[in-house]
Amino acid sequence: MQKKIEEIRKSQGKLLVKNVKYSWDNIPYYKQKMKEAGLKPEDIKGLEDIHKLPFLSKADLRYHYPYGLIATPLDNVVRFHSSSGTTGIPTVVPYTKRDIELWAELNKRCLETVGATHKDIVQVSYGYGLFTGGLGLHYGAERLGAAVIPTSSGNTMRQIKILKDMKTTTLACTPSYALMLSEVIKSNEMKVDELSLKRGVFGAEPWSENMRKRIEKGLGLEAFDIYGLTELCGPGVGIECSEHNGLHTWSDHFIVETIDKDGNKTDVDGEGKGELVFTTLQREAMPVLRYRTKDLSWITWEECACGLLHPRIGRITGRSDDMLIVRGVNVFPSQIEEVLMELKGVGDHYQIIVDRDILDKLMIKVEVTNEIFSDSISELISLEKEIKKRLFEMLSLSVDVELVEPGQIPRPEGKAKRVIDLRKDM
Ligand code: ADP
Ligand code: ZN
Repeated sequence: MQKKIEEIRKSQGKLLVKNVKYSWDNIPYYKQKMKEAGLKPEDIKGLEDIHKLPFLSKADLRYHYPYGLIATPLDNVVRFHSSSGTTGIPTVVPYTKRDIELWAELNKRCLETVGATHKDIVQVSYGYGLFTGGLGLHYGAERLGAAVIPTSSGNTMRQIKILKDMKTTTLACTPSYALMLSEVIKSNEMKVDELSLKRGVFGAEPWSENMRKRIEKGLGLEAFDIYGLTELCGPGVGIECSEHNGLHTWSDHFIVETIDKDGNKTDVDGEGKGELVFTTLQREAMPVLRYRTKDLSWITWEECACGLLHPRIGRITGRSDDMLIVRGVNVFPSQIEEVLMELKGVGDHYQIIVDRDILDKLMIKVEVTNEIFSDSISELISLEKEIKKRLFEMLSLSVDVELVEPGQIPRPEGKAKRVIDLRKDM
């Protein structure tokens, strides 16, 4: 086992050396960055030298928008995608024909890992277009030989009719949209056993274990976490296996590291917690070396019972820039979600609002379920108290809680916007 891992890391090193040379030769900005760091390609002899390379950030990509970091002539580019722009100006990413093929292969592998085969019917309810979610899963499922239903996101009633009539077995969408589908199914008094769903691959945004439980119950399937980002290709970078103990990342395509906030490696022994940093090993149009994702996680090369020898990363708890600082306390939206989704009576949708009076104020707007909404007012009061108590225990912060009736919070079709930070507008 250890020997096999050493072999994998050795071949990662070889691909890294090749990629460094390729980037130096073809991307003037990389050459400049490496020169500034006092490096020549021959200084990178293997995986052990990766830490010498400078980082690449989203800001670098934005600065060189749109064509500045392309390593091939534009003639060889067959597609562009763009990130969602969750944290600012979207970044634009080019693909050669080979990049598209390899990306499809990664998504095929992801689908295989969750047990899908050519016999499955895969409904892709991620948005199609510049966003990578829809087309990424689409090409992967087609490469697998499965039957793809490219519904894209939105038009929820039609999605549900298709799920039912066409006997979809595999659903791909954001976890928040999966929850919304389950909510609409329930409110239309449809039963989960009218559907043929076996599994879902949900990603593109953070989601908690308690949200997983709700989705699994609401749609009658096994929910798998899928991870990716446009700068690396899109979805398909990592996937949970049936052990649900982290997400395997494909070692022949990516080197993954973790670093602390000062950029020091935290995975020196092959394991560690921190910000994920990725190096692509096979991309042609826009390879990235040590790309800082801002996504927080951990890495392990420990053996997985599923037999895959690809290292695992933990479920992403959030981005370093998602973290809210409220009266000096660090708050991650995912912590709040974990508390809320555990409580009976709390619906599937919530919003976190931060404002400043004299001090910062944290307010959570929480939709309640239809059941509790029609119950007595005392039930609602005790739910509100319970939420406040649990949030205080978790965050050591007093939080204002507003319970709202079902349907009051906007439903996302793609990534949910859960945080409204009014302090930024001041
Ligand atoms: P943007 O960075 O603008 O949202 P992308 O559409 O490329 O653009 O989204 C990639 C980001 O989405 C990742 O960096 C990560 O923050 C988030 N993401 C993707 N998949 C997951 C997942 N399974 N769990 C948590 N976050 C995810
Ligand atoms: Zn596994």
